[in-house]
Formats: sequence, C-alpha cells, structure tokens
Amino acid sequence: MANQLFSTRTLSTQTSSSLFTLTVAPAKVIRGSDVLEAATAEIARLGSRPLIVAGKHTFTTFQQSLQTILEGQQLHIAQADYGVDCCEASLKSLKKTAKEHKADVIIGIGGGKAMDTAKLVAHQLQLPVVTIPTSAATCAAWTALSNVYSETGAFLYDVALSRCPDLLILDYELIKTAPQSTLVAGIGDAIAKWYEASVSSGHLQQTLIIAAVQQARVLRDILLQKSAAALKAPGSEVWQEVVDATVLLAGVIGGLGGAQCRTVAAHAVHNGLTHIAKHGSIHGEKVAYGILVQLRLEEMIQGNQLAAASRQQLLKFYAEIGLPQKLGDLGLGNITLSELQTAAEIALAPNSDIHRLPFKVALEQLMAAMVSTTAPTDCRDTTSRVLTRGISDEVEE
Ligand SMILES: [Zn+2]
Repeated sequence: MANQLFSTRTLSTQTSSSLFTLTVAPAKVIRGSDVLEAATAEIARLGSRPLIVAGKHTFTTFQQSLQTILEGQQLHIAQADYGVDCCEASLKSLKKTAKEHKADVIIGIGGGKAMDTAKLVAHQLQLPVVTIPTSAATCAAWTALSNVYSETGAFLYDVALSRCPDLLILDYELIKTAPQSTLVAGIGDAIAKWYEASVSSGHLQQTLIIAAVQQARVLRDILLQKSAAALKAPGSEVWQEVVDATVLLAGVIGGLGGAQCRTVAAHAVHNGLTHIAKHGSIHGEKVAYGILVQLRLEEMIQGNQLAAASRQQLLKFYAEIGLPQKLGDLGLGNITLSELQTAAEIALAPNSDIHRLPFKVALEQLMAAMVSTTAPTDCRDTTSRVLTRGISDEVEE
C-alpha cells in the first residue's frame, strides 16, 4: 500500500504524507428539517466563541435567524464574509478576524466556497469546524479537502485537511431555500464520482477501495433514477434522498476511497475551465460537462464502446434535468480557439489528475473532445473530422 501511495504522490497534495491515513467522515452528522436550533447545543459543546464564515448572500438571508439561535445558546459570535472566493487573501483576513475574536470554533455556512474557506481556516488555526450547507451543490460540507482559487475564481490547488468537519448540520429547510440549479449542479458533481473513481482506482483489490467504487455505482444509480422526480418536488421524500446523495453519500466515497479514489479528467477539465469561465457557471456544472469530455476521450483514444454508451446515456439524463452538455451551455459558446487551448493546457498540466487516465492525452485530442461532447457515437474517423472542422463549428455556435 505504501508503494502505491508513493507512486501517486506527485499528483496531489492529498498524498504528500507516506503515512496511510483516512479521513472518512465528520465526527457527527445531524440531519433533518428545522434541526438547526436543536443542533446548536452540539455547537456549544465544541466552543463558546464561534466565528461564522459565510458569503454576503448567506448573511443577508440568514443573519437574523442564525444570530437569534446561536445567542440563545450563550455563544459569543463574530461573523466574517469570505469575500470573492476561497482564496489566499480571504484566508489571511479570516485568520486575523478569528484571532481578534479569540474564536474557539469555526462555523461555515453557505455553499461549497464558504465550506472550503471555513474548513481551511479551522485547519490552519487547529480549531474545530462545523459545516452548515445551505445548498446541495457539492459534498464540501463532508470532506477533508479544500480547494483554493484565485481572486478571479481560477482553480489553483487543493489542500488535504487533517480531518473531516467535527459537526455537519444538514437542515433540509435551509437547502430548500437555495435555487434549484444548485441541486442540479450537485447531482453533476456527485455522479462524477462513479466515472472518476472507477477509472482512478484501476484494478486495485483493496477492500476499502472496492467498497468506495461500489458506493459510487450505487450513488450513480440513485441519481439516475431519482433526480428528475426530486427536482419536480422540492422538500419531498425523494428530494431529500437526492440531497442526501449529493451532500452525504458523495462525501462517503471520497472519505472511504481516499487518495486512490480521486478525481480524474472530469475535474481536471473543470479546473481548466475555471481559468477562462470565471464565475459564469458553478462547480458541479463544469464537472458534469467534464464527465462527457472524459468519456469522449475514452471513446476516441481507447475506442471504448462502454464509454460511448455511457456518454449517450448521460446526454439524455442531462437534457432531462438541465445539466450542461456542451461549452455553449456553460456560457462559453463564444470562446476563442486560444481560450479553449488555455483551458486544455491547464487541464493537462503535469500535476493534473487527468494523468490518472490509463492512456496519454495529447492537447489536440483534449481540445477535440471538449468540442464534441454531444457528437453521435461514432464512426472511425471522428477524431480527424473534429480536428479539422469541429473546433470552429462548435466554438462559434
Ligand atoms: Zn467536485
């Protein structure tokens, strides 16, 4: 096991230690409708001077109710806006605020960026952290990982944290206030687990890896079966099950699978796109598109018929629930060839997870895949056709 860890250590900061450590799950998860008030007693067990980290929008929406609830527990709260993103400038200023307040627990409330910022501040200050997601757009409330972005939203690197959050409070009433598109994005991010974990785990026979990959398959099937019904009935039982799938089960898979169940091309493509897309679309939307790119690569380069069939299945599913199928759906219909190339080059950087694919990917192949995610399956000369015509056709649509 140590050897395998070493062999992948250049790919990510998560494997930078030679010790085999797993950060499987939050110490406690409280889940239900209107549970926030009851759950604050658990927060009080972790500390009495919380610093609340959230985005502006979250503060405007929840400040009143949150403040009342927390002060009811005799907690001395301070709050701070994470600013534009989980970026180094925000982290620095939040650590300063935390020290000034003598914070003894950090509470992250909001979407993925608020979670990532709160977790990383807590990690760096060695304080306990509570995550309270207000959308189901990612599993960031669960995981021991934070993504750091530039101030303009470009993905820079991820940081492996020493543990999962000390407390996760999943209150369906909060999740219900988020726009529907955030759950759609969460479905995209969660379903990627199967397409990426099944590739990155290769033929590993380790018990926990096999278990994680099987959970990813279960997660995919739950999402394929229940997402459409869930989106039609926010707050319903089936909706809660899909929220559990995106916020909780997706986190379980990352926790159980650890370093060998990591992201592959779908997230690498997402990372590349953040350098040209800025804030036009959210994480799970880009990842969902990235899955199609990954399958397209497997199809074009390996001649993988299963990947071809999966892509067609996902295209139908995406159409049904409103996930993006192509660059145009991400607001990138008018990008130039050089922007496309920039995104592809970043996705192919030497330390990128795209290199977990079992074959080499050339720049032109990736660019071709990125503009042909909706292509019909496939006659033999697709690659050359796309290379000579496809880029200009699709990019200018
Ligand atoms: Zn993700």
